[in-house]
Amino acid sequence: MKTLTILGSTGSIGTQTLEVAASLGYKVIAMTAHSNLELFEQQKNKFKPETAILSSEPGGEDKLIDIAKNSGADIIVTAISGMAGLAPTLAACETGKRIALANKEPLVCAGEQVMQTARRYGTEIIPVDSEHSAIFQCIENKTKNMSRSSDEGKCLNEGHQISKLILTASGGPFRGKTRKELENITPKEALRHPNWNMGEKISIDSATMMNKGLELIEAMHLFSMPPDKIEVIIHPESIIHSMVEYTDGSVIAQLSTPDMRLPIQYALTYPERKTSLTKPINFAKLGKLTFEKPDPDTFPCLELAYRAAKQGPKTCRILNEANEEAVELFLNGKIGFLEIPQYIEDRTNKCLL
Ligand code: NDP
Ligand code: MG
Repeated sequence: MKTLTILGSTGSIGTQTLEVAASLGYKVIAMTAHSNLELFEQQKNKFKPETAILSSEPGGEDKLIDIAKNSGADIIVTAISGMAGLAPTLAACETGKRIALANKEPLVCAGEQVMQTARRYGTEIIPVDSEHSAIFQCIENKTKNMSRSSDEGKCLNEGHQISKLILTASGGPFRGKTRKELENITPKEALRHPNWNMGEKISIDSATMMNKGLELIEAMHLFSMPPDKIEVIIHPESIIHSMVEYTDGSVIAQLSTPDMRLPIQYALTYPERKTSLTKPINFAKLGKLTFEKPDPDTFPCLELAYRAAKQGPKTCRILNEANEEAVELFLNGKIGFLEIPQYIEDRTNKCLL
């Protein structure tokens, strides 16, 4: 029986990981939460982990890092939201075990450090983010794991006949809207995603399209690809989770009904596939799959992320930091929806001076 540690068990990814663990019969030996005491108590009663800590309590941050590093679990699931997950992710990279990585911000703000630490300790990083899980599944027979040492410094497009990665994006709740229509958007409206039920921060990131920008930088690090070989396409149905184009023009895609429990499960069972909780696709009912170009006027965050990705790690770190601040300000009613990209642009511009 495999054992799991879940960092951030009370969140959207954390609770779905618990569902998957129960269905696979994996044992959760350690889990952490931050502020949701009520749900955490219920989870502790149900899953009976050996260790469970609230990271918001005094000394909680140190305990969180200790659990990430020393729980002894076969797999550490990183499901904390934002940069708060950086130190525990780096600690998990030192275990030599497997990380099922959902928490993308550590890769955005310190991708090289995370990947290098994982390589040094022989820690496997398997992506949970649906797009990156899709790409991982499309290249599985090409490279087992980009965090392994033999792949250090090698780009995925070198020697693997891969010409580009294609990240799909749902377009979020405001796809097709103009800037004018988004002037008075409230946090409640921005939190309503059409296809996925997620934590607050990533829901706002999806509404601004910054989520796709962060995923671009995440993909660069996970798969050692330059930003100009990663394309973003809007695919509102969220059935194709991402694609890989090979040099001969063939495109391999991964499809499923939108359900995070599938990429979570794959990161736990890889290289095996097991029966999952996800409903199969009914193609006849779907009828068609559609695609559009992203709209850079209404959603400038994606371009800001491309620019940061090309400029390098320092700009990526500032981009991520500024985005977390801007999302927080928006959720607290301090800035409007359209001010989010402006705030990030101002901060990243300053970093160039
Ligand atoms: P949630 O906000 O739903 O959950 C966050 C988790 O982290 C909760 O358990 C929370 O605890 C804990 N947490 C919050 N702040 C801190 C802190 N300062 N220190 C330690 N723990 C903290 O987020 P999601 O589950 O939606 O997302 C988690 C990560 O996965 C993000 O990086 C996101 O981008 C990524 N991801 C999420 C997807 C999704 O579908 N949700 C899809 C792909 C990627 P508590 O609730 O107890 O306060
Ligand atoms: Mg995603």
